[in-house]
Amino acid sequence: MIAVLKSGTTETQIENLSSWIRLQGLEVHLSRGSLHTVVGLVGDTSKIDAELLESLDIVESVKRISEPFKSANRKFHPDDSIISVGNTSVGGNIFAVMAGPCSVESEEQVMSIAHAVKAAGATMLRGGAFKPRTSPYDFQGLKADGIELLIEAKKETGLPIVTEIMNANHLPLFEEVDVIQVGARNMQNFELLKELGRTDKPILLKRGLANTLKELLMSAEYIMAGGNENVILCERGVRTFETYTRNTLDLSAVPLLHELSHLPVIVDPSHATGVARLVKPMALAAAACGANGLMIEVHNDPAHALCDGAQSLTPDAFADVTAAVRQVLSALGGIKQ
Ligand code: PEP
Ligand code: MN
Repeated sequence: MIAVLKSGTTETQIENLSSWIRLQGLEVHLSRGSLHTVVGLVGDTSKIDAELLESLDIVESVKRISEPFKSANRKFHPDDSIISVGNTSVGGNIFAVMAGPCSVESEEQVMSIAHAVKAAGATMLRGGAFKPRTSPYDFQGLKADGIELLIEAKKETGLPIVTEIMNANHLPLFEEVDVIQVGARNMQNFELLKELGRTDKPILLKRGLANTLKELLMSAEYIMAGGNENVILCERGVRTFETYTRNTLDLSAVPLLHELSHLPVIVDPSHATGVARLVKPMALAAAACGANGLMIEVHNDPAHALCDGAQSLTPDAFADVTAAVRQVLSALGGIKQ
């Protein structure tokens, strides 16, 4: 349920209303827009008398929210959320570009890629340290050592770092990680999501291999219900019957998620296609349809990458993509990379 307050409502009046709502056993979610403050009532609102609420002097209107996701809902928070990440942000008029190798392999590899992607305009460095591989016999990542190497690359380049978590017990290793990624395979690992909800780190939540947008938003809700509102959604393709691509990129997810939610939405054309030459056209399309950023895999030597070489761009190919994306963004106006 939301109550839209009249303009001119004072802080004391908002605080009084919030205390009354909390006394009813509900949580309060405040969104202060340019014109109105929206008060979200989270929890079992069946006992709330909407007419009584609407009759209060300070309340303009009251609406029940039919969608099962509340905190993630655009109705709760009409303005776009902007999530601060180190010296940059995701959402609003900043276009985020997260780039780097599928997995951190060595110091030389991650350092050289970090410098190259920064020079090409990346705003964050990505790299997997804990890798969710389909086969237990494949390279599983450098784990804690991989995170250490990312931290070194961050110190050297100033780029905030993004890396995937697979187990909540590893959280202490993520202290200096700027964005914690939840991969497609863990999108519905609800215990992990609840733990991440107790942190204040930005969480990059990838859409599951065969999950609906509603399920993605419900997973975001798990994190937000714990108090962490710093969630970035990521469309990375879903599994279909098509075999020329690794997944099928669902770009309609971008405008739809923007309609449904205030959370930023980025697109990962690397995992969505699995094919390096398809990354550029899909990155341009993602920018054109309103994505707040991209995640792109870049490797100094894709042919010898320990993971996902076929979809990884060389640093030069990545620079070509970011230059073309800048053109799309400037044609759209108002957004900068
Ligand atoms: C990744 O980003 O390296 C990854 C494993 O992606 P996804 O979870 O989307 O498959
Ligand atoms: Mn990968």
